[in-house]
Amino acid sequence: MEKKQFQAESKKLLDLMIHSIYTNKEIFLRELISNASDAIDKLYYRSLTDETVKLNRGDFLIRLDADRAAGTLTIQDNGCGMTQEELESNLGVIAKSGSLAFKADMEKKEDIDIIGQFGVGFYSAFMVSDKVRVETKAYGQEQAWRWESQGADGYTIEPCQKESHGTTITLFLKEDTETEKYREFLDQYRISGIVKKYSDYIAYPIQMEMEQQRLKDPEKHEFETFKEVQTLNSMVPLWRKNKNEIKPEEYNAFYHEKFYDFTDPARVIHSKTEGLVSYDTLLFIPKQAPFNYYAKDYEKGLQLYSNGVMIMEKCPDLLSDHFSFVKGLVDSADLSLNISREMLQQDHQLKLIAKNIEKKIQSELEKMLKEDRDTYEEFFAAFGPQLKFGAYDHYGAHKDQLQDLLLFRSSSQDKPVTLKEYTERMPEDQEKIFYAAGETPEKIELLPQVESVKAKGYEILYLTESIDEFVLRTFGAYDGKAFANVCAQQLDLDTEEEKNALQKENENAKDLLAYMKEALGDSVLEVRFTNKLKNYPACLSSEGDLSVEMEKTLNAMSLGHEDEKVKAKLILEISADHPIAGKLKALYETDKDSVSRYAKILYGQACLIGGMNLENPAEFSEMICGLMV
Ligand code: ADP
Repeated sequence: MEKKQFQAESKKLLDLMIHSIYTNKEIFLRELISNASDAIDKLYYRSLTDETVKLNRGDFLIRLDADRAAGTLTIQDNGCGMTQEELESNLGVIAKSGSLAFKADMEKKEDIDIIGQFGVGFYSAFMVSDKVRVETKAYGQEQAWRWESQGADGYTIEPCQKESHGTTITLFLKEDTETEKYREFLDQYRISGIVKKYSDYIAYPIQMEMEQQRLKDPEKHEFETFKEVQTLNSMVPLWRKNKNEIKPEEYNAFYHEKFYDFTDPARVIHSKTEGLVSYDTLLFIPKQAPFNYYAKDYEKGLQLYSNGVMIMEKCPDLLSDHFSFVKGLVDSADLSLNISREMLQQDHQLKLIAKNIEKKIQSELEKMLKEDRDTYEEFFAAFGPQLKFGAYDHYGAHKDQLQDLLLFRSSSQDKPVTLKEYTERMPEDQEKIFYAAGETPEKIELLPQVESVKAKGYEILYLTESIDEFVLRTFGAYDGKAFANVCAQQLDLDTEEEKNALQKENENAKDLLAYMKEALGDSVLEVRFTNKLKNYPACLSSEGDLSVEMEKTLNAMSLGHEDEKVKAKLILEISADHPIAGKLKALYETDKDSVSRYAKILYGQACLIGGMNLENPAEFSEMICGLMV
C-alpha cells in the first residue's frame, strides 16, 4: 500500500511528540477525548438543526477500552466521523487554529513547556504509541476508512469495515522502559483518574468497562469479580459549576485548552446572570497578545452556547472593538439554536448580554489596575495599543469610558502612569499637561525642549507609541487640563519680564533672522531666538496642529503615496544665551555667506537632536568638514 508523507509542519510536530521527553504524557488522553467531544458536538448540532439527522442527545457517548493482552487503548466516539478527504487533510496536516503560534514557539525549542500547556491535538498520541490506527465513518456515508501510521515515515489510508458512524482510535502503546511506564495507561484506575482530572466537564458520557469486586458470601468473606460499564466524568461544564468550587488551576487549564494560549490569563470573570435573559459567562483577559492580534485577520468574538451546545465559535457582536482581546464564552438557554448570524445582530437579548459583558470587562480592568498593578502593566504592554486606539477611534466617543485605563511613560517615574496620577501630583501653578513624543523615553529625554520643561520642575508624559499623540489630541484635555506638546506650542512658562526681553531680542535681530529663514527656504516657517534651551544651541519646534511625531506616523501610514504626505510647520529656534547667537550677529555684519551656511548647519543639528532625518546628509557633512579644514 502506498505510504503518504506528512506535510512538513506536521512532521515537525510529530517528531517532537515521538521524541518527547515530556513527563506529563498523560495529556494525550485529554486531547483525544476533546477531539471526540468536538466530533459529537458537530453531529449533535446537526441533529438539532437538520430534520434528516434523527439522533438524540442521549445517543452520544465516548467509550474507552483497554486491552492488556494486546497492549492497546481505544477511544471511540459516535460523532460526525470523517470522509476519506477529511481524514487525509485533518490528520496529514496540522489544522489547528493555534498551530501557527505553536510553530513559532516550536522554533524556540521550548518544547517541554509547550506540550504541557498547549493543546497539541491528535499527534500527542505518538508520545505514548508506536502505532496509531484511526477507523472512521462519516455520518450518512456508506464507506469507512482506516488511517494508520507508525510515526515519522508517513501514513496509509485504506477502506475498512465499520458498522456505525464515528471514529475509533486505537493506540498501540509503547513498551515500558526503565524510565517510562507506558503500560500504566492500560490501568483502569489510572485511566479514570486522568479523565477526572482533565475531562470531567466534557458534556457527553465517557464510559469504560470497569472491573470491580463485590462480596459474594459475607459469611466466608468471599469476593467475586464482575464487570460494569461506568461513566467516568461528571459532565457538568466548567462554567455551570459553582464558582466557589473551581480552583484557579482549573480555570487556567480550561483556558489553555480552549483558547490556545499557554500563558495563564491575567483575569478570569465568571458570572451567572438571572433576569430578563439568563446566562452564564466565563471570560478571560489574556496577558499576552496572540501572534496575529494586531493583524487584519484577527477575529474578535466569544463562543456562544445555547444550553450547553455551542452554536457559534466566535460571536463578534458580544465584544466591542476596544475589548477585542477578551476570550471566553456565553451560555444561555434563552437563545435559539437555529439563530443565524444575521438574526444575531438584530437580537435584542444578545445586545443586552453584550452590554452587560462590556460593563463586566470594564470594571474588571479598573479593579486590576487598582489592585494588581504589575499584572495590569503586563496586560497593558500587550493590549494598551488597542485600548488607546479604542479611546481615539470614533472621534473619542469612548474617551470617558477608557481614558482612566490608559498608561503612558513619564519623566518622573520609571513605570507607566495614568492621567489621573499625573494630574493629582501637578504643582499648583501648572496649568497644562505636558507631553513629548519620540521613539523611546531615552530619546525623548534628550530633546532640548524636554530638558528645559523638566528643569522647571514639571512632569512630562513621554509618548512612545505612535498612536499616543493622536489620542491626546483627540481628548484635548483631561480633567479640565489641556494637553501641551513641549516641542510644539508656545508653552508660556516665562515671566512677563523674560517674555519682554526675548521679544526685544528677536526684534533687534529681525534682519538676521529673516536672512537665515531665507537661506533655509521651505524647510522652516521661521527662525527665531528662544530662551527655553538650556544646553543646546538650537531646536526645531512645530506650530499648528501637526507635530513632528505625527508627521512621521501619518507619512509612514501613507506608504509612499507622495500626494498624501504631510509636513509639520517647523520653527528653528536658536538659543539666545548660547555663544552661537553672538557669533551669528557678528557674522551678519561681516560675512553673510557664512551666516547662511551656519543656518543650514544649525538646522541640520536641530533635525538630528530631534530624531528627524536630514534631507541632504551629504551636504550637511560637507559643510561640517568645511568648518574643520
Ligand atoms: P484540532 O482538534 O485542534 O483541530 P487535531 O490535530 O487534534 O487538531 O485534529 C485535527 C482534526 O482532525 C480536527 O480538527 C478534526 O477535524 C479531525 N478529528 C480529530 N479527531 C477526530 C474525531 N474523533 N472525529 C472526527 N474528526 C476528528
